[in-house]
Amino acid sequence: MEIFQKTAELMHWRNAHRPQSVGFVPTMGALHAGHISLVERAKSENHLTVCSIFVNPTQFNNADDLKYYPRTPEQDLEMLQAAGCDAVFMPDEVEMYAAPPQMRLHFGNLEQVMEGAHRPGHFNGVGLVVSKLFHMVQPDVAYFGQKDLQQFLIIKRLVTDLSFPVRLVCCPVVREPDGLAMSSRNMRLSKQAREQAPALYRALNVAKQRILNGEKPDLVCAEVAAQLNENPSFHVEYLVLVDTENLRQVHHPQACEEYALCIAAFVEQVRLIDNLIFRM
Ligand code: AMP
Repeated sequence: MEIFQKTAELMHWRNAHRPQSVGFVPTMGALHAGHISLVERAKSENHLTVCSIFVNPTQFNNADDLKYYPRTPEQDLEMLQAAGCDAVFMPDEVEMYAAPPQMRLHFGNLEQVMEGAHRPGHFNGVGLVVSKLFHMVQPDVAYFGQKDLQQFLIIKRLVTDLSFPVRLVCCPVVREPDGLAMSSRNMRLSKQAREQAPALYRALNVAKQRILNGEKPDLVCAEVAAQLNENPSFHVEYLVLVDTENLRQVHHPQACEEYALCIAAFVEQVRLIDNLIFRM
């Protein structure tokens, strides 16, 4: 497995391997089985697989979240090697941002809801770093997780608006046996918070079932969020039913249409997100 810290070295390797197809998995490291599922999917569909590890400062709107974001580079490299990844790109901040970026990306309605509403500037940072990585890696296909559904839709928009010649693949959420969506941030949960965190996934399932039974989504979401908030360790930021294309809130779901139930909640100090996609 090749390990590159410099863009020039990565691009030299990329050019030396044309015309082989490259599948690309961008990450912020602290890898888990969810990330590895993306690497495996990339491997199964491309000649070569590249994974990037970069904790991108421009997408953090909370200094502590950036400071305490888990970093486990040695273990990450072992996992990628075992998964058969061909190349890892691990730039430092100076390599990615020689100077503070001045341009701003806007994604309209897509960035005004959910994560965009609660994390100002977050998707500008995501859009910038993914654009840079697409230029550097020049992948044929890029793999993202449905866990970050809004991020996937933002990147889809980015690829359309800027004509990146990249196909995007959205991969299913990988969960712990108790249902908790795998996340690098789970490493930051205390023992007690880790035991309680699967309640988010259970809440999504309860809300989904009630909506499928014909109850009004707004009422269901408000009640389910209130039940979670009864536990002082939890603070729900949002629980909403949205359409899976534009993330517009859905008040009257229609039969056969596809929707996503999305949640963001603090469990003690750690902010977690999750979602379920289902058809009425
Ligand atoms: P991150 O390192 O958190 O930026 O995530 C890198 C990629 O892995 C993103 O496309 C995420 O959506 C994806 N990912 C994170 N957690 C999971 C999971 N539990 N299952 C599947 N994909 C995931």
